[in-house]
Amino acid sequence: METNPQPVATTVVRCPQCGRINRIPSARRDDGPKCGQCRSSLAARGQVGVVDDAGLTTLLERSPVAVLVDFYADWCGPCRMLAPVLQQIAAEFEGRLLVVKVDTDRDQGYASQLGVQGIPAVHLFVGGRHVAAESGARPAAFWREFLAPHLS
Ligand SMILES: [Zn+2]
Repeated sequence: METNPQPVATTVVRCPQCGRINRIPSARRDDGPKCGQCRSSLAARGQVGVVDDAGLTTLLERSPVAVLVDFYADWCGPCRMLAPVLQQIAAEFEGRLLVVKVDTDRDQGYASQLGVQGIPAVHLFVGGRHVAAESGARPAAFWREFLAPHLS
């Protein structure tokens, strides 16, 4: 009797240092994985890297999973409150979602294109397409509900 081999379950993790999208066998997620490009440790879950406008374009083209983008600035208090919440969300939804941040003081291309008025502003892309947005330093429970209809 023949059975088709099951594809190896993998988890998608974006390297916060170099931006490389790594696929890690799920069974080896806790074996101290390193980035295939720059060898940075990917052991910690919920790492949220900063991308510039060009980096975000590349990520939206290449990401095999949904992308959540936090538009923030260093001087913004609510942004600092939101940051650990989104790290928690990134860890919880690992494998289904990548979370990155755009510093709106340095990169304004996407922020102006998307009509970002106040920060923090959080925008969700699925398959490279913009599907939802919310703003404010809201709790993790809010973001779980925000994501639920869009993630498989
Ligand atoms: Zn890397």
